[in-house]
Amino acid sequence: MEYKNLENKIKKCCSCQLRGTCSQVVPGEGNPSAQVLFIGEAPGAEEDKRGLPFVGAAGKFLNQMLETIDLKREDVFIANVLKCRPPANRDPMPEEVAACWPWLLEQIKTIKPKLIVLLGRHAMERFLPNQKISQIHGTAVRREISGIGKQVFYALYHPAAALYQGSLREVLLSDFKKIPKVLKAIEKESTTQVNKVEAKVESEEKKQAALF
Ligand code: URA
Repeated sequence: MEYKNLENKIKKCCSCQLRGTCSQVVPGEGNPSAQVLFIGEAPGAEEDKRGLPFVGAAGKFLNQMLETIDLKREDVFIANVLKCRPPANRDPMPEEVAACWPWLLEQIKTIKPKLIVLLGRHAMERFLPNQKISQIHGTAVRREISGIGKQVFYALYHPAAALYQGSLREVLLSDFKKIPKVLKAIEKESTTQVNKVEAKVESEEKKQAALF
């Protein structure tokens, strides 16, 4: 599907209760042919007002981190697990995540990113269930996702968490700076390495294997 088409469909979505309380749907923003897709949790107050993802305090920090790896927002794509703001920024409810999931799947299928960067535990949980962000952050993981196929994920602490908890800031910055290396490794990956990783992933089932 052409990205604009998809975006228009997402904007019209009323599949869950959140459309009744948010101001507008926030589908995502960026280059629809990006190599890197960032996925956060859900729009906050500023995002709800402007209709764009990550434009509040966490978004400013995300922009700064992108600069450290010579990327701009226009080079990547930024989306969220939920496209509508939950009231008072409460955690997403499972039925809301389930209702929004087909949109995220379609975004991934349309953008076809080389790497999906999961920002925070809610995004991580959707793709790498039963993991702890404190353990898996900064580790590239390949997983087969139904409807997408094999995909490389890289989970990071959420930029907002790093803003509130100073100790996470350096960890997030250092993980973030590894993104270009992860991308290069994906490009260069030999068949042997891929096979090895896949075998490991299959044998460990839910305990995902590190790719690098
Ligand atoms: N936090 C998120 O997870 N997403 C946004 O769009 C903004 C803040």
